[in-house]
Amino acid sequence: MPTSRRQFLGGLGCAAAAAWLPLDRTEPDVILFNGNIWTVNARQPRAQAVAISGGRFLAMGSNDEVLPLASGAAKKIDLGGKTVLPGFIDAHSHPAVAGLSHLRMVDCDLRSISEILRALRERAAKTPSGQWVLGFKYDDTKTAEGRPLTLKDLDDAVPDHPAFVEHRGGHTAWVNTLALKAAKVDENTPDPPGGKYDRDHATGKLDGHVREVARETFEKLFPGFTRDDHREGVKLISKMMSRTGVTSVTDASGSPDDLRAYQDARDAGDLSLRVYCHIYNAFIDQMLAAGVRTGLGDDWVKVGAQKSVCDGSISERTARLSQPYIGRPNDFGILVTDEEHLYYLSRKAHEAGWQLGTHANGDVGIDTTLRVYERLQKEMPRRDPRFRLEHCTVINDSLVARIKALGAIPTPFSTYAYYHGEKMKEYGADRVNNMFALRTFLDAGIRPTQASDYPPGPFEPMMALRSEVTRTDSKGNVWGPRQRISVEEAIRVGTINGAYASYEENIKGSIEAGKLADLVVLGRDPFKVDPMELIDIPVERTMVGGKWVWES
Ligand SMILES: [Zn+2]
Repeated sequence: MPTSRRQFLGGLGCAAAAAWLPLDRTEPDVILFNGNIWTVNARQPRAQAVAISGGRFLAMGSNDEVLPLASGAAKKIDLGGKTVLPGFIDAHSHPAVAGLSHLRMVDCDLRSISEILRALRERAAKTPSGQWVLGFKYDDTKTAEGRPLTLKDLDDAVPDHPAFVEHRGGHTAWVNTLALKAAKVDENTPDPPGGKYDRDHATGKLDGHVREVARETFEKLFPGFTRDDHREGVKLISKMMSRTGVTSVTDASGSPDDLRAYQDARDAGDLSLRVYCHIYNAFIDQMLAAGVRTGLGDDWVKVGAQKSVCDGSISERTARLSQPYIGRPNDFGILVTDEEHLYYLSRKAHEAGWQLGTHANGDVGIDTTLRVYERLQKEMPRRDPRFRLEHCTVINDSLVARIKALGAIPTPFSTYAYYHGEKMKEYGADRVNNMFALRTFLDAGIRPTQASDYPPGPFEPMMALRSEVTRTDSKGNVWGPRQRISVEEAIRVGTINGAYASYEENIKGSIEAGKLADLVVLGRDPFKVDPMELIDIPVERTMVGGKWVWES
């Protein structure tokens, strides 16, 4: 490379790139120009043009600075003034499992029970009798009828098949009579530990609502998935997420099958998202035996943290709280794993060099999890452990101080204020001002991320921006205004903070020389629209590793 060229690149803020990129990688493959580029890099926040080489950013600056870097082969793309941001990082979702659900289950994200029943009836008509009819993403608070699904609804709609419809939150389900028969569950069946078959209050008969561990009685009867199904599921969900501008994702509860599916999809050219794959603690012994730990993998598929679960769910109102749910004075939610057991599970992985990610929603769940992390760090101090508090929803001042002291990372739900607003009544206005607490975290110098938890929450980053900036639901009701953040802050939370949570802040999360070329092109400038309209901004193109994975 001629000296002048190296100096020129250095002058464009790409000294790092020039220092480590092989010499043949100073020729750009692609130059995007004429753009309104927000880099999320404090040293060079704005640019008009960006040069990309070998799947990484090479240089950024004005059109006049970057366009001359083009050699004969470089493709020049005129952005026509469109806004560009780094690709969004969804720091907690369940893509592999969601992909499989989309392949096989009826999407019950519909606004009336009659529509849901119609969709199930249609699926039943196409399903050989006796085989399962499965639904997911049903939400008890979102249907026009204002009542939950019943056993009778399902029996009427699906009389010749066992039926199982899962709640959007994934912790509870509704079944029909044939499903109860298939699972040999009747009035005399005792509830399994950690689960419940609900009964009608008046008659004492099973009402078809099954909770937590009781779902497994049914799930184990569903036909299994092949290796190809797993890969197809990843392919499908990758496409769905790429369309919305997500370029990286943390699978918050991966299994060995999921980890293999991501690799299979990558090798088949079907993976358009980078995946940081947490491994559920039930599989950790296998991983430890193979010498695997956090960080193993490549820029596409990487082993994440060990995942454990401390308490219940926000959307299904089972998170463990210090004060009861509004209107249910004896209901404090559920602690799924007690402190000693959580310590035992976490210690093994921490000792072996794993990052830890623990689902902790309620203030009691968070307190319990922090106590385990604090104890581990005292007994076996590790440099930069980046303990993750998955969700970390209901907080208070003393929890925040401990999170800060530990350098822990909260991954709060980014679309819940918008999407699940109607459920917030059960938490009450005061508590909601301390939930999904981005303002508090940022003010305390903590680095929270954006996280959908999909399926429980929608994954569209533009919905996340609207939710985090305005704290309004779809009807305009305000939930927890104290926690509003600015558009700029929300973009940082959704990009560079997500990268930090997976130890990848040096390779992604901003448009900076040397980093992976992951970006989105938006139809409108989020800094110029009314914040209520952030959700309407179209994602026109998504780039991962220098290649377009979505173009509208
Ligand atoms: Zn989750």
